[in-house]
Amino acid sequence: MKNIILLAPPAAGKGTQSKLICDTYNFIHISTGDLLREEVKKETSLGLELKAKMETGKLIEDSIVIDLLKNKLEECKNSDGFIYDGFPRNIKQAELLDEILRENNSKIDEVIYLDLDYETAKNRIVGRCSCTKCGEVYNTLIDMQKPKKDGICDKCNSSLYKRNDDNEETFKTRFEVYEKETKPLIKYYENIVKKVDSTKDTNMVFEDIKSILGEPK
Ligand code: ADP
Repeated sequence: MKNIILLAPPAAGKGTQSKLICDTYNFIHISTGDLLREEVKKETSLGLELKAKMETGKLIEDSIVIDLLKNKLEECKNSDGFIYDGFPRNIKQAELLDEILRENNSKIDEVIYLDLDYETAKNRIVGRCSCTKCGEVYNTLIDMQKPKKDGICDKCNSSLYKRNDDNEETFKTRFEVYEKETKPLIKYYENIVKKVDSTKDTNMVFEDIKSILGEPK
């Protein structure tokens, strides 16, 4: 079983690349952002608390994230591999992941750092919207990435939505939190991390990732 970490600032394409990797390599996508948003949708008291915090762009407590992660790993324990998207987000989470993997006689196989500058990331975020059903991502400010019909997914005709935290103000905090909390992980994983230029288009980024991961089985 493989464990692949995608390390990146907001809007570097973690979600999009994770989907491509999972389709090609038959891995399971573990996005802690998605797991938290699922909790928010349930409208439990925890969900409401998470919603308020996520809208500010700050990180959620490690213990909550770790619990959600462990449940997901347990649910999918017979998979060929996992893509960790948005996790670990700080050194403490990286240490906890090391522990969880050690207990399962497993290890991290690759850490891929998707590099993206602040301005490019901001432009991607402000126009971003996604399909409620298939997760396809669009951008209303970039001609090549607009949906054919306003608010409707080209692929499955479902409606598109905009994340609450995809606005300029929250983005600024998300990027600052990334610089302070997450970027130090590049040093933590210095012996294994590989850098990919994420300003390139989706397919080119995916080609670079494939050259790191090798041929699918
Ligand atoms: P992005 O990387 O594009 O900002 P995510 O979907 O990964 O978006 O995360 C959205 C929000 O969910 C974060 O701003 C944070 O509040 C919370 N979050 C996601 N993953 C984690 C994590 N591993 N630890 C703490 N908070 C997290």
